[in-house]
Amino acid sequence: MAVGADPAVWWTALGPIVMAVRVSGKGLPEPDIAQPRPGCADDVRRTSRVLPRPRRVTGRAPSHRERRTSGTHADAPPGRLPAMAITDEDLGHLRRCVELAQEALEAGDSPFGSVLVAEDGTVLQEDRNRERTGDPTHHPEVALARWAAQHLDPAARAAATVYTSGEHCPMCSGAHAVAGLGRIVFAAGTPDFAAWRREHGGSEPRFALLPITTVAPGVPVDGPAPEIRPAVGELYARYLSA
Ligand SMILES: [Zn+2]
Repeated sequence: MAVGADPAVWWTALGPIVMAVRVSGKGLPEPDIAQPRPGCADDVRRTSRVLPRPRRVTGRAPSHRERRTSGTHADAPPGRLPAMAITDEDLGHLRRCVELAQEALEAGDSPFGSVLVAEDGTVLQEDRNRERTGDPTHHPEVALARWAAQHLDPAARAAATVYTSGEHCPMCSGAHAVAGLGRIVFAAGTPDFAAWRREHGGSEPRFALLPITTVAPGVPVDGPAPEIRPAVGELYARYLSA
């Protein structure tokens, strides 16, 4: 997520889009990562799911992959991975996201920060929003997806978790899915930011703020985190009031 109050900084302000084929047109199949297309990056994700992975015996919280097989969420809707509880370890990473969001705000950017964590709990990469001081599309979640695509093999990407102060916007959700990354944990959700914009006078985005589960239904998502959400709201209020 990295939606600012100023429409001029929402992504890159480009003109009309002209397409040869409407992707979501009637009669066309729904996007499905289980349907391989030659040369498609989704092959990476699918391949990673069939690779055998060793089980780690450590004190950390189980990865999303391990929890998926725990049998505690067997009633997840078809086609969707089950949501899991947010652990103390998760909260620690979310607090770091808030620190990064504060850095972004103090630098003049929208207050959003994200952390990429490996299956064994190692923090691999961090970033913050840079849509004003850099590229308007530089949301931290996109930056982490690109970093992961360049530095991690498919299995490591699928087993990694992205923590973020605010729920991914559609651009970031798409990048996350295309990169084949795993679980997402966010502190504050899209409805939270909508409420804060109404409260503090922020403008509505000019793109649809679809939830992650709509844009990337194959990605396991946990959030919001009530313990961290107030801190995110405080930063966002400061941003909107500046
Ligand atoms: Zn985004």
